[in-house]
Amino acid sequence: MLQRCVFKTMVQRFHSGRRDTWRFPAALLYGHGAATHRHSSTDLPDKEQTLIVVKPDGVQRRLVGQIVQRFEQRGFKLVGLKMLRVSEDVLSQHYCQLTSKPFYPSLLYYMMSAPVVVMVWEGHKVIQTSRVMVGHTNPAEAQAGTVRGDFSFHVSRNVVHASDSLEGAQREIQLWFQGKELLNWDCWDQTMTCEE
Ligand code: UDP
Ligand code: MG
Repeated sequence: MLQRCVFKTMVQRFHSGRRDTWRFPAALLYGHGAATHRHSSTDLPDKEQTLIVVKPDGVQRRLVGQIVQRFEQRGFKLVGLKMLRVSEDVLSQHYCQLTSKPFYPSLLYYMMSAPVVVMVWEGHKVIQTSRVMVGHTNPAEAQAGTVRGDFSFHVSRNVVHASDSLEGAQREIQLWFQGKELLNWDCWDQTMTCEE
C-alpha cells in the first residue's frame, strides 16, 4: 500500500515537472524506520541536533503533547523519542557542571521523582532556536510564549531541558541515546521549511 502510494506520488511529480523536489523515502531505501547513518552536526549544518527533555513536572502535569507540538509546528524534525526513569549515573553526567551548586542534590531528587520524556530534534540552528522556545532558566524571567514562561513559575520546576551549545548537545545526545535509537528519515516538507 505504502509502495503504491509512493509510486503514484512519484508519477504525479514526474508529470508535473517537480522532479527536483522529489527524494526517495529513506524508509523504502533502508527498511521501515531504519537508522543507517548518524549525522554529525559538524558535517551537515542543517542536520544540527539538540536534546530536549520533558522533566518530571512536565510529565506529571501532562504537558508532553503540548511541548512536542511546539517543536513540530516550528518545523523541526523528531529523530528520537523515549520515556524513561533516568538513573543517577546518567543524571550526574548530564549535570556534571552543576555538582558544586547548592541546588544540585534537590535537582537530582526532582529529576528522578517520575519518568522523563527525552527527545532529539533536528534542523537549522535547532540548538539556539530551542533555547529561545524554552525560555529563561528561571521561569519568573521567562517570556510569555516560551515553554517555561507559559507553564511554570519556579526555577526548581521549569518543565523542560534544552541543550545550550553544539558541544553540549552532542555530549548529551550520546549520553541519553544509543546511535541506533536515532532515525534518519526524510521529511517530505523539507523544501518548504528550509532552503537547501
Ligand atoms: N536549577 C535549580 N535552581 C537554580 C538553578 C537551576 O533548580 O537556582 C535547575 C533547573 O532545573 C535548571 C537546571 O538546574 O533547568 C540546570 O541549570 P542550568 O543553569 O543549566 O539551566 P538550563 O540550561 O536548564 O536553562
Ligand atoms: Mg543547562
